[in-house]
Amino acid sequence: MMIECSRIYDVFKKAKLFNFRSGANFNNYLQQFANFPDDGIYLMFEAGEINQFGSRVVRIGINTTGSLAARLNKHINGNNGNSIFRRHLFRILGSDEQVTDHIQNKISFCIIRGPRGLENRRMIEKELIGTFSNYLSDCNDCRPSFVWLGRESQNLRIKNSGLWNVHHVNHGHGLTSGHFDYIERHVY
Ligand SMILES: [Zn+2]
Repeated sequence: MMIECSRIYDVFKKAKLFNFRSGANFNNYLQQFANFPDDGIYLMFEAGEINQFGSRVVRIGINTTGSLAARLNKHINGNNGNSIFRRHLFRILGSDEQVTDHIQNKISFCIIRGPRGLENRRMIEKELIGTFSNYLSDCNDCRPSFVWLGRESQNLRIKNSGLWNVHHVNHGHGLTSGHFDYIERHVY
């Protein structure tokens, strides 16, 4: 059985909301949170993208090689080579300064702890992207606003999914109830 996005949004309403406002000091910012997990899944929100639950999810990602903190730091302090998210924004905004400004001031995120195994993280990531990118069929809560920046993307997967994601977009199988239970128990 597939889980509807509304049930996932309900879980994230209780989650801790992080941001990138500290910019160059992002690593220090994260250190104030005891028990910030080494491995995890992040879900991003963007200013102006609102739904009935508060904020619409605009990107889903995980750490692969390094830690979750290092992965997130690359989005605010990295470059087009080590952050695909920055590259997507760069193609629209045109400069590193503007990309940093956008992420610093308009992006926030919440996290799910673990799971430890990369393959398990990938599976949940894929299912979440599948769930949130299927708005075209039946969901207003996942639909981007008319002024969402991603509508200017040349990448049709971004433009049509409402997510700053390319892989797994419109993946047919959404979140399973087993993985939903995991998320409920491990949201930070
Ligand atoms: Zn939805």
